[in-house]
Amino acid sequence: MKKAPILFFFVVFAAGSILAQTPRLSVHYTVSFDSASKNKMHVEMIMDHIKPGEITCKMPEWMPGYYQIMHYANAVSDLQIKDDKNKLITFKNATTNSWTFTNKSSKKIIISYDIKATKKFVANSYVDTTRAYIIPCATFLYLDNQLQIPSTIQIYTPKNWSSIATGLTLMSATTHTYQASNYDILFDSPILIGNLEELQPFYIGGIQHRFIGYGMGAFNKEKFIQDLSKVVKAGIDIIGDIPYNNYTFIGIGPGRGGIEHLNNTIVSFDGKGLETEGGLNKTMSFLAHEFFHNYNVKRIRPFELGPFNYDAGSKTNLLWVSEGLSVYYEYLMVKRAGIMSEKALLTSFDNNITAFENGPGKSYQSLIQSSYFTWQDGPFGTAGPDKNKSISYYDKGPIVGLLLDFAIRHSTNNQKSLDDVMRLVYKEYYQTKKRGFTDAEFQMACEQIAGISLNEVFEYVYTAKPLDYPKYLGYGGLSLTVSEDKKYRLEPLATKDALQSVIYDSWLH
Ligand SMILES: [Zn+2]
Repeated sequence: MKKAPILFFFVVFAAGSILAQTPRLSVHYTVSFDSASKNKMHVEMIMDHIKPGEITCKMPEWMPGYYQIMHYANAVSDLQIKDDKNKLITFKNATTNSWTFTNKSSKKIIISYDIKATKKFVANSYVDTTRAYIIPCATFLYLDNQLQIPSTIQIYTPKNWSSIATGLTLMSATTHTYQASNYDILFDSPILIGNLEELQPFYIGGIQHRFIGYGMGAFNKEKFIQDLSKVVKAGIDIIGDIPYNNYTFIGIGPGRGGIEHLNNTIVSFDGKGLETEGGLNKTMSFLAHEFFHNYNVKRIRPFELGPFNYDAGSKTNLLWVSEGLSVYYEYLMVKRAGIMSEKALLTSFDNNITAFENGPGKSYQSLIQSSYFTWQDGPFGTAGPDKNKSISYYDKGPIVGLLLDFAIRHSTNNQKSLDDVMRLVYKEYYQTKKRGFTDAEFQMACEQIAGISLNEVFEYVYTAKPLDYPKYLGYGGLSLTVSEDKKYRLEPLATKDALQSVIYDSWLH
């Protein structure tokens, strides 16, 4: 009893002296908008307790979630590096996205630069006098090989902008300062600033879900949130776990596309068209897709998608799972939420089958190739040197998802489904092994649930072999017809056997 305090003081003293001798490197950013009318923001990167020697800072070439090299560093201008005596330090650009300089002895280094942000697109930053949409990958330089260090970010908000939406942890509401525990978190957390509107939050399992947006327009917001909460619940029910402390949909205004993040999604959004059945289905499917990504790709992820290669991109064969199966589940979530009709669900797949079967690339490119080569083929497989020999995993992915689901349901007497596969990989790889899965491991997970070999279905993943629609759709009591103008249509079989009926009914719910 008596010795304990002495030991305690010794430990505290020893730890304190170590800390005093080696102060930790800290990185603080400020972002300001004095030149917002010129579509520019100003950034300062302040590094304290930095060591002497050669230092390289970099800007990512792309952002996870949008699998294209974006050359974000091209938007940087007027970059200056200064030491703690405010003296300019010369630098060189060894590559187009890096800045290298020598720190002789300064404890503090400040790098300041402007970012031009003119393109209103979900994967580009945008600034004008009404708002700023900040993509961290396109904004914040990082110290090469130091992606693990924490940083703080302070936003100097113009007086007439009322709010900030971001998934970053708030440190101080009065100074608008946020914290990121490492660069994967910072780069995963876009920031929207302006006069934003927040809709009524909803709670699932006690967890808050918010919807904050710019320029959302007029629509029935109460009904919208009711519908969205049902869709989100349908997504949560597939996995059976809520892995975030809160979740925010951040709307950046009208446009196309969304980007998924761990505890938020950025969506191009306005309330137009929600009053029509088609418009409601389309918007809810889109939001379902982005939400489901919080599981499928952010947590249930391909082996190659972490740690990210922010220079060259992270190539993987498995975007057909991350993107294709997220399309598959977006339809099912909206159907299971009671919003989409049975007919509209089938029509959603009709559109994918018609696009895929009429595309010239179907005989040339497999799903894994379309995943791997998306960096050159473009996000929808429509660019690049061989655009007539490429496909889109957004079309073939959900089709193979449907065939895979029906194969599993058939082999297990409808006791299991693709939902069980998603739950298994979530538990096995995200929760237990804390890593991504390989191609072979995903097939193994499917076969573990199905209890049989699924080699034939996976040939539709690994090769460009024509799909056996009658066999696999038949398992679920569906048939496929094609019209003279090459429009494909799914229809329930007029007569179904007992298992077909059970599979079809349970698939719809
Ligand atoms: Zn997606």
